[in-house]
Amino acid sequence: MTDCVFPAREINQFRADLLRWFAAHQRALPWRETRDPYRIWVSEIMLQQTRVAAVIPYYQRFLERFPDFHALTRAPEPELLAHWAGLGYYYRARNLQQAARRMAERGSFPSTYEEIRALPGVGDYTAAAVASIAYDLPHAAIDGNVLRVLSRVLDERSNIASGVGRRRFSALAQEMLDTNQPGAFNQAMMELGATICLPKNPQCLLCPVAKLCRARASGTENELPVKAARVATVSERRTVFWIEKEDKLLLWQRPPGERLMPGFWELPEALHLPDAAPGVKLGSFRHGITFHSYFFEVWEARAPKDIGACHWVALSRLASIPASTILKKAQRHAQRARAAVSGQASFR
Ligand code: SF4
Repeated sequence: MTDCVFPAREINQFRADLLRWFAAHQRALPWRETRDPYRIWVSEIMLQQTRVAAVIPYYQRFLERFPDFHALTRAPEPELLAHWAGLGYYYRARNLQQAARRMAERGSFPSTYEEIRALPGVGDYTAAAVASIAYDLPHAAIDGNVLRVLSRVLDERSNIASGVGRRRFSALAQEMLDTNQPGAFNQAMMELGATICLPKNPQCLLCPVAKLCRARASGTENELPVKAARVATVSERRTVFWIEKEDKLLLWQRPPGERLMPGFWELPEALHLPDAAPGVKLGSFRHGITFHSYFFEVWEARAPKDIGACHWVALSRLASIPASTILKKAQRHAQRARAAVSGQASFR
């Protein structure tokens, strides 16, 4: 149990008011016409990074071509991706097919939260949504809409961007969940957030739970949810080498399987070229990645004999290869330094 501000009577009232409103006012969406876990799962994967209105035609076409996991298992990849084209984030389509192959091996769609959660491309939210909507399993599905509704209804000020805050909201959502109708309740919470309890200017006059809402009572609805920016906690100095030869630049490429920016090209550092001889400093800049704050220095250097795993890449190709932000920032400094040198030369 959490220290939820709602006593049991108010929780019951909230569930009843919300579900009554959802039954009367929910949008007609194609994935709401089925309890087929396969179809619900496909809709949830499509909705992960795409708006409802954009998903509808793709969802219908996809299911006409791949009506069950057997059909999806057999799909040639080009055809699968063609049916996904326009939705973007193609790894979602590949994950769908990998998951479908697992279903084919076991002979059925998984039927517990844990089994659904173990599918490729399925996180806590998607597992809870599919488990509750398809099987009425009592798992609260928590997306951005639900976090907003909960924070406002309960006037809960925990930071939704922090691990502690997320755990707090997870416990509160589970306590508020109507375990008799978890699928309808989860969808109703998301629907309220998507259509009434909007990020800006929530439509409180139309809200079915307004009389219970703590934020509405205290006038704090526009301050919630609290999402405090993460602060950089680690600071590090790094040196990258700008090594040019015959209109080529020495770079290394992140391996395709790497978690961070796979396939992107980077400037080498001392760990890549221990024998590089730095010459002139071309510039410096700051760069932040999640909790890290970096201070980069860009040094022109001479190429060592052994270039290790680095490659010479034509400067004319820099705009067309996947280049990291650090490489792009360093390039600007190198160009500026070159321009300054040639400008000085012209005044001599
Ligand atoms: S009353 Fe307003 S702030 Fe409260 S849940 Fe409803 S729409 Fe959101």
